[in-house]
Amino acid sequence: MVGPKARKLHDESIIVEGHRDLFEMVRLMDAGQKYPLFNVTYPRLKRANISTTFYSICGDSVTHSRGTRQFLKSALENIDMLREEIEVSSGKMKLILHGDDLPDAPSPDLLNIVMSFEGGRPLEGRIEHLRNFYRLGLRSMQITWNLRNELADGVKEERTGGGLTHFGEAVVKEMDRLGMLIDLAHISRPGWFDVLEVASGPVCCTHSNCKKIYHHFRTIDDEQIKALAQTGGVLGVNAIATMVSKDPTLDKLVDHISHIADLVGIDHVGLGLDFVKDDGPLYPEDEIFGVGENRLIPDFENEDDFPNITECLVRRGYSNEDITKVLGGNFLRLLKAVLKPNAAQDVAG
Ligand SMILES: [Zn+2]
Repeated sequence: MVGPKARKLHDESIIVEGHRDLFEMVRLMDAGQKYPLFNVTYPRLKRANISTTFYSICGDSVTHSRGTRQFLKSALENIDMLREEIEVSSGKMKLILHGDDLPDAPSPDLLNIVMSFEGGRPLEGRIEHLRNFYRLGLRSMQITWNLRNELADGVKEERTGGGLTHFGEAVVKEMDRLGMLIDLAHISRPGWFDVLEVASGPVCCTHSNCKKIYHHFRTIDDEQIKALAQTGGVLGVNAIATMVSKDPTLDKLVDHISHIADLVGIDHVGLGLDFVKDDGPLYPEDEIFGVGENRLIPDFENEDDFPNITECLVRRGYSNEDITKVLGGNFLRLLKAVLKPNAAQDVAG
């Protein structure tokens, strides 16, 4: 199914996965697996030639807090779990902390991790916690998940029309100063534009699709995409089937890529595939957002199917250069622009 041209291109590209949750890690730990990220997930990601992944170690959902709803405490525990996994990997997994850490070639053994939060609840309304999380390795943060937090309203709060709060504004400015990637996935539409007004540099949306192609509460409209692209930002497309189409296929997912490329240019497209096959069930409070059923695209279910998207892009006639940008080049450019170049430039102390 994957031809030699696509296979070669896939193997020679630096692939960046714009979004991954810790849910699989927690599920396997609860089942007694030791170091599940390194022992179970890592080999699968390396089979798919994934170089770098944005790993959402905590966030706003009940599942991210491992059912405790103690977001700050569980963030600290989860960060320790991740750092312990990295420790036992003997150099095979590494945190991206500065521009200097970014890969310049694909590597068969090394998995780079960008530590991320899927929403700002773990800050518990305190800017100093943002700085402390930065010191622990946090480099990317979504402002919200689906609901309201201290920073802003998420997409599921559309009834009241809220955007960024004063605290959210302070967080965006501090993320700018520290050199952290600001992620607009899941934020309300007013919040989207509020953040773009406050942020000084390029901003991303790691895992959403296009409303023009498929209307869903998590997809975003053309005005939002244009405003994001104007910052030099990147939009990662999402393979959760309910956000792709009523009749989801890989080809329809690639329609979202083509739409973004036609609207604002190929430099603003990435992959935030959010593969959920191995995650296990979310807590019931989180399942109400309708992502629970029919979550998988046939023949594009997890990382083992990853090269299929490269094949699909080749068949659509995209150049090797453009495909390389979509597979990871654009996210790498963005990280290079946002992260401090090296430890000496850190402003968090
Ligand atoms: Zn998400």
